[in-house]
Amino acid sequence: MNDLKTDEKFMNLAIKEALKAKKMGEVPVGCVIVKDGVVISKGHNKVMRENSCIFHAEIIAIEKCGKKLKDFRLDSLTMYVTLEPCIMCLGAILNSRISRLVIGAMDIKRKESFSLENILKDNLSNKLLVTKGILENDCLFLLKDFFKNLRER
Ligand SMILES: [Zn+2]
Repeated sequence: MNDLKTDEKFMNLAIKEALKAKKMGEVPVGCVIVKDGVVISKGHNKVMRENSCIFHAEIIAIEKCGKKLKDFRLDSLTMYVTLEPCIMCLGAILNSRISRLVIGAMDIKRKESFSLENILKDNLSNKLLVTKGILENDCLFLLKDFFKNLRER
């Protein structure tokens, strides 16, 4: 079930999560983890609400997913996230052994040495499949709109 329609369907759910973060004044990033076409867990950015830099959408979704499946290994699962994961989240994604990562928008502010490709290339045991650019414009708009509103305040 790797077709574009399926990817867009789940990315839309990740966008819904991102909107929840936006409502709370958090940077709008959302994430869902899917197993065999079923959503197992969701997460959105809660850094300010939790006063903790680790409460990123991906970490929250991985945490919930492991608890739900009673397994820290999330192989054969797919993560959909609206923005390219930061290095902390990418580390967690690799440790969780998630098999596929679907990204909406890439983080354009990131230097090449910190890019997803570079980190994955240097990780010799990497088996993570990456799909980029699913509903990219919607995901980008979310962020641009959020930061534009912040500046205009
Ligand atoms: Zn992160």
